[in-house]
Amino acid sequence: MLTFDNSYVRELEGLYVFAQAERTVAPTLVRLNVSLAQELGLEPGELDSPDFVQYFSGNLIAPGSQPIAQAYAGHQFGNFVPQLGDGRALLLGEVIDRAGRRRDIQLKGSGRTAFSRSGDGKAALGPMLREYLVGEAMHHLGIATTRGLAVVATGEPVYRESALPGAVLTRVAASHIRIGTFEYFAARSDIASLKRLADYTMKRHYPELAGGGYIEFLRDFSMRLAGLVADWMGAGFIHGVMNTDNMALSGETIDYGPCAFMEHYDPGTVFSSIDRNGRYCYGNQPAIAQWNLARFAEAVLPLLDENEERAIELASKEVNDFREHYERAWLSVMRKKLGLRKMEEGDAVLAEGFLDAMYAAQSDFTLSWRRLADAAEGAESSLRSLFAENPEKLDAWLPLWLARLSREERPAKQVAADLRSINPLLIPRNYLVEEALEAASSEGDLRPFDRLLEALSAPHAETGDTRSFSNPAPREHTAQYRTFCGT
Ligand code: AMP
Ligand code: MG
Repeated sequence: MLTFDNSYVRELEGLYVFAQAERTVAPTLVRLNVSLAQELGLEPGELDSPDFVQYFSGNLIAPGSQPIAQAYAGHQFGNFVPQLGDGRALLLGEVIDRAGRRRDIQLKGSGRTAFSRSGDGKAALGPMLREYLVGEAMHHLGIATTRGLAVVATGEPVYRESALPGAVLTRVAASHIRIGTFEYFAARSDIASLKRLADYTMKRHYPELAGGGYIEFLRDFSMRLAGLVADWMGAGFIHGVMNTDNMALSGETIDYGPCAFMEHYDPGTVFSSIDRNGRYCYGNQPAIAQWNLARFAEAVLPLLDENEERAIELASKEVNDFREHYERAWLSVMRKKLGLRKMEEGDAVLAEGFLDAMYAAQSDFTLSWRRLADAAEGAESSLRSLFAENPEKLDAWLPLWLARLSREERPAKQVAADLRSINPLLIPRNYLVEEALEAASSEGDLRPFDRLLEALSAPHAETGDTRSFSNPAPREHTAQYRTFCGT
C-alpha cells in the first residue's frame, strides 16, 4: 500500500482543515495509471484489490492518510478573491515515491468541504478524463506537470447544464501549494503563518536554498516559472485559467480546466469559454506569469525586509528580472526546436522569423516544427505544403535557417534525428480529445480514449497507426472550438 508521511498536516497546523469525502454508493474504476502507481510504490497485486477503488473514491481512508482541505485565496481573471480553498478536493496525504520524491495524493471531485461555497464539491467524468489525458500528454512531452493516478466513476449524476456522470480523479503532484496559498495568509496579515508556509515551501521545493533567504526564494521561483511557461510556449500549450490559485510553487503545471493545444499558429488563440477578453491567450502567457509573480512578491513582501520601501525595491527587481529569465528560457527552448546546439547572436530573431512565417500562412504549429526535420535533410516539400496559403515568408526564412544549420557543423541526419526527438508529431488535438471524452461520457466507450492516450505516450514516434492523430482539425472546427470550465 502507499506509505504516507504527511508533513503538511504535521508542520502547518492552521493552514488547512480536516475533511472527509462524501460516500459514493457504487464506485467503479475507470482508468488506472499503472506505471505511476508503481512509481509510488504500489505493487501490481495491490492494484487488483477491491479496496483500491474504495480508497480512490474516498469511501475508505487508506492507512496513514489524513484527509484535509487546504486553504488558499487567489486572483481570478485579475480580481482578488480572499477565500477559495479546496472546495472539491481533498489532500489524502504525501507519499515518498520509489525515487525518494515527496508527492501529494489528492482526490478531486470527492464532495463538499468547508471551502465549497455554493458548489457541490463534485466533478464530472469528462473533465476528469481530460485532466488525466492532458496531464499524461504533458508528462510525455517532458513538461513539468501533476498527473492522474486514477479516475473512478461514482455511479451518481452531477448536475451542470445537464446531468452528467460523476467521477473522482486521484491526482499526484509535487505539492498543491499555490501562489494563492500565500495570498490567503498575506491578505489576513497572518505573517506568522505566511512565514511558516514560506519556510516549508523552501524546504520542500527549493532545498538548494538551504540557509538562503526569502529573496532567493522569490528569484528561484521566478526562474522555475519562466522555464515552465517557456516549455508551454514551445509546445503550443494554452493553460486557459492562469489565475494565481492555479500556479504551483513547485513549478508544475496544475489544474487542467479549459486548457488546449494551439492548432494553427496565432498568438491570440484562446479556447476557454470563460476567457472572454483573451486575458489568458497563448501569447499573453509570459506576461501573465509575470503578473502572477508580482502577486506572489506582494504576498511575501513582509518577509523580504522589515522596511517596506526596501522590501518593495527588492521585490520589484525580482519581478522585473522575470522578463530576462523568461527570454533566456524561451531562447533555449527555441534553439532546441530549431536544431541548434551552438549559440549565435541572431538565434532569437531566427526563431521569431519562423513564427512570423507560420502566422502569415496560418500553418499548423506542431507540424511546422515537426517538418523542419525533413527540411534539414533536404526534403522541403512536406514543410512547404503547410505554408501554401502564404509561402513568401517561409521562402525567405528557409535559406537563413539552413545557413545557420550549416554553421552547426553536424551531419544533416544527426540534426534531423535531434529535431524529431524534440519536436513532437503528436499533441492532444482538441477534436480528438473531444471525440474521446464524448465516447467515454455518453456511451461508456473508452476505446477512443485509450487509443489516444497510448499514442500520446510516445509523441515523437512515427508509427503507422498513430499517424492519423497528427492531422490538424478542419479550420472551421478550430475557429469555434471552446472548452468549458471543467467543473
Ligand atoms: P478551479 O476553477 O477548478 O481552479 O476552482 C476554483 C475554485 O472554485 C476552487 O476554490 C475550487 O475548489 C472551487 N470549485 C470549483 N468547482 C467547484 C465545485 N463543483 N464545488 C465546490 N467548489 C468548487
Ligand atoms: Mg484551481
